Amino acid sequence: TIVNCPLLTSQRRRLSWVQLAGHKGSFKAGDEGSILKKFSENEKLCFERLKEDALHSFVPSYYGVVERDGELFLKMKDLLAEFDLPNVMDCKMGVSHANMLCMAGSLPAETPVLVVGLHPVRVMGGAHEERERPSYNNNNHFLCTRSQNLDAHLVRQTQGVPEGFLLTHILLHAERHFVQGVPLLTQEVKTYLEDELVRARVKPKLREDLYNKMLEVDSEAPTVEEKKQKAVTKPRYMQWRESLSSTNTLGFRIEGIKRGETCNTDFKKTRSKEDVIQVFKDFVEGNKNITNSYITRLEDIKQALKASEFFNKHEVIGSSLLFIHDHTERAEVWLIDFGKTTPLLDGQNLDHYRPWEEGNREDGYLLGLDNLLQTLSSLARE
Ligand code: ATP
Ligand code: MG
Ligand code: MG
Repeated sequence: TIVNCPLLTSQRRRLSWVQLAGHKGSFKAGDEGSILKKFSENEKLCFERLKEDALHSFVPSYYGVVERDGELFLKMKDLLAEFDLPNVMDCKMGVSHANMLCMAGSLPAETPVLVVGLHPVRVMGGAHEERERPSYNNNNHFLCTRSQNLDAHLVRQTQGVPEGFLLTHILLHAERHFVQGVPLLTQEVKTYLEDELVRARVKPKLREDLYNKMLEVDSEAPTVEEKKQKAVTKPRYMQWRESLSSTNTLGFRIEGIKRGETCNTDFKKTRSKEDVIQVFKDFVEGNKNITNSYITRLEDIKQALKASEFFNKHEVIGSSLLFIHDHTERAEVWLIDFGKTTPLLDGQNLDHYRPWEEGNREDGYLLGLDNLLQTLSSLARE
C-alpha cells in the first residue's frame, strides 16, 4: 500500500518531514530544526544516559522535556532538517521476542500478578489512586490480582512499557530496585514470572479482531481450528506476524520507506535476504556512493556500540536505525526510538548476538546490524 506521508506542518521548509512508524499525532514540529515526540519517562532516561555515552554522536541531539498544549514532549533534533527532499528508511532492529512473551491482557482477571519494588509515588496518581491502591508490604512489593492491576497500566504509561510485555518489564524494573536494597530473592521473581508465562499460554483470550487482521493479509494463515472459532490468541498472532517478516531470520525488519513523494509501510512480507536486498537497491536507486557511505556509517555505529556502556547494559527492543539520503549523496544512519529500551540488572550484560531464550533478555541487535552490513555490501559489489 502506498499512502500519503503524514506531514508535520504545512510550512514549506518542512514539507518533506515524514513519520514512518508510530501513532499519528505522537510527533509535533519543534522550533527550527527540532521535533517533539510524545513524552515517555523511559525514553527520557535513555536520552539522558546517552548524552555521556560512546553512542551520543549517532543518536539525535536531545534538548530536554517541553510542554505544548498541556502535554509533555521530548525535544530532539530533526534528523531530516539538513537534507534536501530526503529518502528515508526505518529499520526496526533485533529479534522481537518480547512481543511473544506473556500477554497480560490475556490472563484471566483473577490471576495474581506480582509487582515488586515499584516506586509508589510514580505509580500512584490520577483518578485511580483511591480505587485501585494495592497493598504494599514493608518490602515495597505487593501481590495483586489482574483486576487490581491498574497501577501496572499507569507504570506502562509513565515508563512507556508497551502492551504485551507488562509483566516481564515491570518485574525486571522491580529487580533493579530490589538490587538497590529490597530484600527479596531474584530467584523468586523469576520463578513467579515464568509460572505466569506458562499460565498465559495455557489459557489465552481469543481475539476476533486479530483473526480478521490475519485474514486480510493471508486468508490461508488461520488453522482449521482458528477458522472454526473465528478467533486467534494474541501470542499466536504476534508469532505469525514475526514469521512473515525478516525479524527472526535477519534480526531486523523494514518498517517503512519514503522515496520521492510516497511512503510505503507495507513490508510485512519482506522476509528473505533477496527480498531485503531488492528493497535496499530500490531505496538507494542503485547509487554506489550512497551505498558506500551507509556501509561506512554502519561500521562506525558498530564500533561505537562495542564501546558503549549504554549498549552493554540495556536490552534494546523496538529501536530503529533511520537511513537518510538525498540527491546530493549525503547519507546518514541514526539510532532512534528508545521507548522500549530498558536497563539490565546490575552486573548483567548482553552480547546482542546469542539467540533469545526465556529469561536471557538477548535482543539480537548486533545480528541485525551484521545482516544490514551484508545486505549493503552485496549491493556495493554488484
Ligand atoms: P514505534 O514505537 O511504533 O516505532 P514511536 O512512536 O516510538 O513508534 P519513533 O519510532 O521514534 O516513534 O519515530 C517514528 C518515525 O518518526 C520514524 O520512523 C521516523 O520516520 C520519524 N522520526 C523519529 N525521530 C526522528 C528524528 N529525530 N528526526 C527525524 N525523523 C524522526
Ligand atoms: Mg520506532
Ligand atoms: Mg517506539
